[in-house]
Amino acid sequence: MEIGKMYINGKWVDSGLHKESINPADGSVAGLACEGSPKDVDAAVAAAAAAFPAWSALPVTERANFLFKIANRIEELAEDFALIDTFDNGKPLRDSLGDAYDSAACFRYYAGLIDKPSGGTYLVPDPNTQALTVREPIGVCGQIAPWNYPLMMAAWKIAPCVAAGNCTVFKPSSLTPLSSIKLFELFDELGLPPGVANLVLGSGQTVGRSIAEHPGIDKVVFTGGTDTGREIMRSAAETIKGVGLELGGKSPMIVFGDYDIDTAVDWALFAAFCNQGEVCSAGSRLILDEAIYDPFLEKLAARANAIKLAPGDEEGAEMGPLVSESHMNSVLAKIDAAKKEGAKLICGGDRVYDGKLKNGYFVAPTVFADCAPDMSIVQEEVFGPVLAVQKFKTEDEAVELANGTVFGLAGGVFSNDITRALRVVKKIRAGITWVNSYHPTFSQAPWGGYKQSGIGRELGVYGLEEYTEVKQININLVPGPVGWFK
Ligand code: NDP
Repeated sequence: MEIGKMYINGKWVDSGLHKESINPADGSVAGLACEGSPKDVDAAVAAAAAAFPAWSALPVTERANFLFKIANRIEELAEDFALIDTFDNGKPLRDSLGDAYDSAACFRYYAGLIDKPSGGTYLVPDPNTQALTVREPIGVCGQIAPWNYPLMMAAWKIAPCVAAGNCTVFKPSSLTPLSSIKLFELFDELGLPPGVANLVLGSGQTVGRSIAEHPGIDKVVFTGGTDTGREIMRSAAETIKGVGLELGGKSPMIVFGDYDIDTAVDWALFAAFCNQGEVCSAGSRLILDEAIYDPFLEKLAARANAIKLAPGDEEGAEMGPLVSESHMNSVLAKIDAAKKEGAKLICGGDRVYDGKLKNGYFVAPTVFADCAPDMSIVQEEVFGPVLAVQKFKTEDEAVELANGTVFGLAGGVFSNDITRALRVVKKIRAGITWVNSYHPTFSQAPWGGYKQSGIGRELGVYGLEEYTEVKQININLVPGPVGWFK
């Protein structure tokens, strides 16, 4: 089996230490990847720093051309990328194919954005001074990605970063490194200058920590769990580097009684269970109007039970396995805790071993009803196919329940009364919200959370600005002495 190497300063590097990447659908080996060390991070940072002056000075149209070419190649190879992520992460092919096209769209979006107007001019009290701002790249960025959307998280990070003129030291999750290795093969094929984008493979505790601590890195950007985010902030504090954090959530989907039950059930399934529920913005809490509570739950359980669990490459697979055995065990432990705390299990609740699923890490779509606000299943992120349902009587109560966790990533409101929907969605303390919809995400619109769900935004214009510093320039229009000291 070919060994997936690191890519540092435009060269493929074999650390000599190799790790098997496991296909969670059956425990087989999906690929082999190098395990790097802090020394590899040092080499990557040095390469990125050396590449930065020329890359940031390159005409924006030339930088854009690289990104357009990358977008086109990802699209041409979308099916290859999809298969890699399906075998490495477990997700169904329809999901991983969508991720590949979204990744191409992200590179294309930032290629198109970088020559658009930015900065501003300011009228200041002194008429002889013209103040203006320009945006400049930050320098060397460290980027640490999770395993739930392996290719797409690489695209969300690398595209805006290099578009803005920075150089990157990128680390994918050691659970799912394979599509990032393929992405860097494209960078190599398309002649991206050495050092602009560097790939260091390895675990969070060694390579990730070293990136967060490294004095040569100006900003660290991370997507993953809230506890890891806290650790990264601590590591970054020593060198006062900028941090961008996209963390966990426990996001509410509120359904009012005036909304069509079948349609809302359909969205609730998508909100909670798409991508096996391994989505930071998953609608993992359903906040239901008591007027429709019982019939809604009956339909929800029936449809959740009918979701087709299968290896991701199987025709018609609707939900794949969880990413790893240890993650599956963590999800099952949270399900057990919910049972012990008295949440009412109305479907799922266990691992699924049937037939060809027996060696995979499959968990049945699980719904707990009658959840109290202080239960762990309401308060803690599970990051699996587990939905907690809460009941409300009044609009105020729905809002209070929705905002009743430390998280603030996403939320959805379903109602035919559009003024109510808008009123309620504005009261949800979260960065990404939907009305009569849940999950659709676009490269054009900013992505990120309130409260303990993160710091900063990815995607959109905001996502590009996160990779820039703002410089103030003041021009004296009437040159001459200042005359302060006689
Ligand atoms: P982590 O948040 O720990 O991992 C995300 C990335 O951070 C990986 O590349 C990981 O490396 C790296 N990392 C881990 N520890 C450190 C560290 N100390 N310093 C720098 N980088 C580090 O996710 P887990 O896999 O441990 O999942 C734990 C929980 O996090 C999940 O159950 C879920 O609740 C949440 N999560 C949220 C995600 C989101 O999109 N918001 C995505 C993934 C998880 P490596 O994996 O190679 O060790």
